[in-house]
Amino acid sequence: MTRTVKIKNITIGGGNKIAVQSMTNTDTLDTEATREQLKRLQLAGCDIARIAVSSIAEVEACKPFTGAFDMPLVADIQFDYRLAVKCAEIGFDKIRFNPGNIGDKSKVKYVVDACKMHGVPIRIGVNTGSLEKEFQTEPKSKALVLSALKHVRMLEEFGFNDIVISVKASDVRIMTEAYRLLADTVQYPLHIGVTESGADLRGTVRSAIGIGSLLLDGIGDTLRVSLTGDPVKEVDAARLILQETGVDKNYCEIISCPTCSRCKYDLKSVVDELKEATKDVTIPVKIAVMGCVVNGPGEACDADFGVCGGSNGKAALFEHGNVIKSIEFDSIIPELLDLIEQKQNATRV
Ligand code: SF4
Repeated sequence: MTRTVKIKNITIGGGNKIAVQSMTNTDTLDTEATREQLKRLQLAGCDIARIAVSSIAEVEACKPFTGAFDMPLVADIQFDYRLAVKCAEIGFDKIRFNPGNIGDKSKVKYVVDACKMHGVPIRIGVNTGSLEKEFQTEPKSKALVLSALKHVRMLEEFGFNDIVISVKASDVRIMTEAYRLLADTVQYPLHIGVTESGADLRGTVRSAIGIGSLLLDGIGDTLRVSLTGDPVKEVDAARLILQETGVDKNYCEIISCPTCSRCKYDLKSVVDELKEATKDVTIPVKIAVMGCVVNGPGEACDADFGVCGGSNGKAALFEHGNVIKSIEFDSIIPELLDLIEQKQNATRV
């Protein structure tokens, strides 16, 4: 079990809920655009949002944000330790930096002292693009861990333990190896992610493989899916990864068959409509939408409720594999929604 680190109102590590992170990609100096994106991220279910801060002017631009959102805000700093100090002073809730980019130990100490004074945790974010020369002969995964540990020890020397660590790589194999090694070595909470994973479906699949593999092994206390494009998509993808790995069970899971010529109704429309109608369900409930009886109630017997098409122009509604009744195709959606509602009401009692 990892130790806990409190970031504003969110505690990560120690078996707490895995926090979903994302990062703004607006110009930090464009206060309105950044504020709008932060609002959209919060609305989408982002737990922690990060902003790149690269100049004193950007520190100033961020002043209206700190404390203005329910979700904690993280300042992402590269190279200039003075920016990290300023960000801790103006109320950022966490600082992410790579000590290897900050310079000598005395500069890191300034940052640590400021973070200590303001109760701000630090994420040591190492990635393959910023490894120190001394580790470059090591295998990449080991080099990531050695680099992170070197900086962790430096912070510990300064009496600082509010540490979160990440060792990201864009190569899924390197990244998963590094995190597994790190998880065996330290008890600090780990922020997991595949860096520069790309865009759209490919980037999402790459992230899902990397992040999902670690989550299945019980590794990861907070995560970011890094995608090129609108960061709200990162949050959506992260939520799906948490659901598909079984970390988040409180939702309506819909399974469906791929269909073949035995399916005699518009199964895809049923799935789409059901997905939309159940998106706000917050209890664990599993629904099976199957094309026909061949792989119907039997194959989907672990679903709470389900439906399969019959050869008589009707559908069979089933509960835990047992057929309850025969219904018209048009009634599939209302019948299933009714059963889900009954389960929700029973859960509330
Ligand atoms: S459940 Fe029936 S319709 Fe769906 S793929 Fe299997 S055989 Fe085809």
